[in-house]
Amino acid sequence: MAEKNPDIMEKIVSLCKRRGFIFQSSEIYGGINGFWDYGPYGVAMKKAVEQLWWKEMVQTRSNVVGLDSTVICHPRVWKASGHLDKFGDMMTDCRDCKARHRVDQMEDPTKCSACGSKNLTPPREFNLMMKTYVGPVSDEDHVAFLRAETCQPIFVDFHLIRVASRQKLPFGIAQIGKAFRNEINPRNFIFRSREFTQMEMEFFCAEEESMEWYNYWREQRIKYYKEKLQFKDDEIKIHDHDTLAHYAKAALDIEFKFPFGWGELEGVHHRGIWDMSRHQEFSGQNLEYFDQEKNRKIVPTVVETSVGADRTILALLCHAYDEDTAETKKEGMDEDTRIVLHLPPAVAPVQVAIMPLSKKLGESAEKLYKDLARKFRAEYDETGSIGKRYRRQDEIGTPFCVTFDFDTLNDQAVTVRNRDTMTQERVGIDALASYIEKAVE
Ligand code: ATP
Repeated sequence: MAEKNPDIMEKIVSLCKRRGFIFQSSEIYGGINGFWDYGPYGVAMKKAVEQLWWKEMVQTRSNVVGLDSTVICHPRVWKASGHLDKFGDMMTDCRDCKARHRVDQMEDPTKCSACGSKNLTPPREFNLMMKTYVGPVSDEDHVAFLRAETCQPIFVDFHLIRVASRQKLPFGIAQIGKAFRNEINPRNFIFRSREFTQMEMEFFCAEEESMEWYNYWREQRIKYYKEKLQFKDDEIKIHDHDTLAHYAKAALDIEFKFPFGWGELEGVHHRGIWDMSRHQEFSGQNLEYFDQEKNRKIVPTVVETSVGADRTILALLCHAYDEDTAETKKEGMDEDTRIVLHLPPAVAPVQVAIMPLSKKLGESAEKLYKDLARKFRAEYDETGSIGKRYRRQDEIGTPFCVTFDFDTLNDQAVTVRNRDTMTQERVGIDALASYIEKAVE
């Protein structure tokens, strides 16, 4: 594996742009800071990451159900959640070079890290909520906010969902969707953006069981990173919070070792009854749950798992990026640097590439491609030498390249080349789908 140093970030950013994974939004207008577009391979990977999370957190669990709520909610939601009053960072401006800094991220809060000047404005609070107006009049009565996290609508819709899905405590509600924060310093590529996607699950339970559930979700999420995303022991760690919100019993971050240092990937939080009781207070509605077995009314306690899809993608790219030089000759290429993404097959943007050895085989090979494309993310490539085609697929992390040659017409078998081991194996066309399926699973 290549050394994970800061240069790797530059290489990943450049690969993402060159191969159409991720690039700056509105680039032809000079770009807009903190906003990123996902190109063809990027969106394929993002959807795969979301699907994998959904499968593990919702689809395969009878006690977790889904929601897709709006980005704009009633403004009182954000008053109740506390976001309007205290969701902010302290910031300071440099009067000389005009750079803006988040005070908690400055090495020396008395000195501008861009130009070294000490001529800074006094720190002031900056609210991260993004504002808009709903309706034809742009005045204070029509102000609305883009959601800063996807979980608040889950609390607001709790009762509707519980009744409709006939769930009893304990159970969870999950949502994948966009969140918006007017971050002072968006940075480190897609790690900190102003528009990003969250994958959150709120688990509602009785207070006396809440620590058991907290520990359960902590284990589940670590297992997910190690088994499903294949992160290694030295790539992730748990950071238990030393100081807790007054309503919380426990909180932790799952951190990933990015090339720029350890960074939060996911939070697992015990939120107590804070959110539900605040929405009860601000809406004036009774949000209690009647526990039939114990014949009592309770405000549910919440345990949350919250992760960014974009940060997951960045972590996967950092985990997967590698360069090697030794093995390329045997594939008919001059010795050069092979850039390869060792992505888990479940989240690779292309899972199988179909390559006819000659354009004369195109018709039959394309038929095979069409069959495979119904089951997997597949790509058809007939241009350039086989060596060059392998290299193109390595760069985007395709785990299997399938070569269709003249023998295929007789023996109904193809050569499957493995991205990681670069070994080749003859596999019958009949057995191909289950061969790939096994690796994806
Ligand atoms: P940070 O301390 O890095 O600002 P946070 O503690 O504010 O993050 P949460 O509010 O707990 O983050 O959000 C849950 C998850 O959403 C984070 O673990 C992260 O994966 C993702 N996330 C939060 N802010 C951003 C952002 N600006 N850009 C991309 N992803 C983000």
